[in-house]
Amino acid sequence: MHILGIDIGGTKTSVCLGNERGEILASGRMSSEKSANFEQYGRDLAQLCASIIERGKVARTALQAVGISAPGPLDIKRGILIAPPNNPGWRDVPIVALVKDILKTPVYINNDANACALAEYLFGAYRGTADLVYLTFSTGMGGGIIANGRLLQGITDTGGEVGHQIIERDGPLCGCGQRGCWEAFVGGRRVAERLREKIRAGSIKTALLDKAGGNLEAINMELLAAAAREGDEFAVAEWNEFSERLAQGIGNLIMILNPQVVLLGTIAIHLGEFILAPLREKLRKYAWSWPLAACRVEASTLGANIGDYSALAVALTGMR
Ligand SMILES: [Zn+2]
Repeated sequence: MHILGIDIGGTKTSVCLGNERGEILASGRMSSEKSANFEQYGRDLAQLCASIIERGKVARTALQAVGISAPGPLDIKRGILIAPPNNPGWRDVPIVALVKDILKTPVYINNDANACALAEYLFGAYRGTADLVYLTFSTGMGGGIIANGRLLQGITDTGGEVGHQIIERDGPLCGCGQRGCWEAFVGGRRVAERLREKIRAGSIKTALLDKAGGNLEAINMELLAAAAREGDEFAVAEWNEFSERLAQGIGNLIMILNPQVVLLGTIAIHLGEFILAPLREKLRKYAWSWPLAACRVEASTLGANIGDYSALAVALTGMR
């Protein structure tokens, strides 16, 4: 069975040809950013899909389905990208209709965090685990939930929007308009903003600022982790606060969903035990001991290739 996966990211779009076992036969990428208008993007995408299919030595008619993983918000039923964050010129773009038109096959779409959860469920080290949570923290905090062996989609496709559970009433403003969302505490963009404000306001001397070359704007989560790892006092305290808030949100998920595994993507893949060990320790405060004991908290197992796998997983899941 041959399927095509299209992973639309903020800066690039990847296309891969694969099969139901998760074997990738050919793949390639193009910029998503330079395409200010969607028509141009459509032409570039058609070209890239054609070249990947050719390189995979598969007849176009042998293609059975296409899966698209895309940043939210999405209207999945209508197959529309509502407002991709890095393409301000795109509004309500009919991505599914475009791809159907190019490839003349069934096309399925889901948001990137849900797609990653499906990829872990179908292809990861914990594949087949009926109750699994996937978390991705980059600029924000996204999640995908597999419950009883199915993706929890919800009635408005907002199932798994774990970043917008409110963990503090009247807390900091979130990009979504609510106050005190989990994402406002642990999302990369907000963590970096808060660090900048604190360092600026207190004229704080910290290895974190040195690592950023003295440039406040260059501060990010990776540098915070690096400075904390070296024992910088300010960075250690901030890292501690971050992992506390991380544990609070994950504890809620463990109590509500009772998963067998919680997989952390993005920065957790590089940081490993530096983020996982304090998290497991702090979780004891936020969940009962026996669901906690039954739940493994680990880094994502699909690593940097998760984008390709996630798009293939969306296609396979859609075909069922
Ligand atoms: Zn929010």
